[in-house]
Amino acid sequence: AALAATELVDGAVHAYLHVDAEGALAAAAESDARRAAGTPASALDGVPIAVKDVLTTTGLPTTCGSKILEGWIPPYDATVVARLKAAGLPILGKTNMDEFAMGSSTEHSAYGPTHNPWDLERIPGGSGGGSAAAVASFQAPLALGTDTGGSIRQPGAVTGTVGVKPTYGGVSRYGLVAMANSLDQVGPVTRTVLDAALLHEIIGGHDPLDSTSVDQPLPPLVEAARQGATGDLSGLKVGVITELSGEGYQSGVLARFNESVDLLVAAGAEVVEVSCPNFVHALATYYLVMPCEASSNLAKFDAMRYGLRVLPEGVESPSAEEVMRATRDAGFGDEVKRRIILGTYALSSGYYDAYYGTAQRVRTLISQDFAAAFEQVDVLVSPTSPTTAFKLGEKLDDPLAMYLNDLATIPANLAGVPGISVPSGLAEEDGLPTGFQVLAPALADDRLYRVGAALE
Ligand code: GLN
Repeated sequence: AALAATELVDGAVHAYLHVDAEGALAAAAESDARRAAGTPASALDGVPIAVKDVLTTTGLPTTCGSKILEGWIPPYDATVVARLKAAGLPILGKTNMDEFAMGSSTEHSAYGPTHNPWDLERIPGGSGGGSAAAVASFQAPLALGTDTGGSIRQPGAVTGTVGVKPTYGGVSRYGLVAMANSLDQVGPVTRTVLDAALLHEIIGGHDPLDSTSVDQPLPPLVEAARQGATGDLSGLKVGVITELSGEGYQSGVLARFNESVDLLVAAGAEVVEVSCPNFVHALATYYLVMPCEASSNLAKFDAMRYGLRVLPEGVESPSAEEVMRATRDAGFGDEVKRRIILGTYALSSGYYDAYYGTAQRVRTLISQDFAAAFEQVDVLVSPTSPTTAFKLGEKLDDPLAMYLNDLATIPANLAGVPGISVPSGLAEEDGLPTGFQVLAPALADDRLYRVGAALE
């Protein structure tokens, strides 16, 4: 059914960069046999899934939405992909994304944008717009995304799907092509909160192949989702983040947010307002830390080891440096180049302490704001994204306007805490989906599922 939906709608949506119908059907047949024998590999055995094209997959191309990796087929599976296979989930294909996960609209993909299934003239969010659009248009019941500054949660919000960024270190990053190692996390994109919990339990948990993986069992996520679904939140203390629930938000987004807060109160939660004063610096901090890490990570695309190699025109025996320059010039898009330049500048001698050093100090202040807030409340809430889906092309020439989409999602990545976005109804003025964000302390991902499921 998922493959039939793709046949029908993906010409218009463009959620996928690569569809593996044959592989998915073969895996589904094996799953049928296990189920018939009464020995399913997991609760999701046989449920197909789409995978963001930034996760390595043996036998399937992995482009990261970039020309520089066109044609590259990785020799190994990301740990999360290996776990999907072991749990019996057929992989439908690889989904479109902003190049190297840099963007909030999927318009920075070198292979053309993804369209929002709610309105094809609008963006599906980014960088994981392909995963969110695949789930929203019923091309996949489940997908994997990655979230460095909001790329799972913001696409979730603008496509009416559920998106989870787990605690940093809670899900393995082995085989996730890094944008910013200290911020990246893999997580579920689904239609329901329970589906996300089931998927999270399959992909999560310790992995010796990732040195930042937390060596500790996950809290009971499915149980928390089931508990939340009873609609009883008595005893739970919720903090509305002052800095993320007022200025700069579309009125329909705020209206739906306030209604969801009322639902939490009706479910028995106690709601208070909590100030996190340093969150106003989160965007500036992120846009220094992230390009610094990205510029260093992307140095490995040197025309020697992977994918594309371009020889400079008119040079008879070009030097290695000339080949690298021609390849990177042709292979990287504008946004990637912009961030490499920003990161290289901020890390250069004489500037390093003023930019990177200062950003790291502010990052600590943001973590301290979270720590202080979680002394008062169990979870924090805000709208996920300041606006509903905007029109394709609207913010493409204005990087700052694009960066502002991440206002509410970035603090969680800087501090490593988990977050979920759940659908919170349609904005009155444009009839488009809005998202409600719940944040919890590190390693307390179960709270996201309890609160998220209570809102469904
Ligand atoms: N939109 C943010 C950025 O452009 C976040 C991207 C992400 O989470 N991968 O960096």
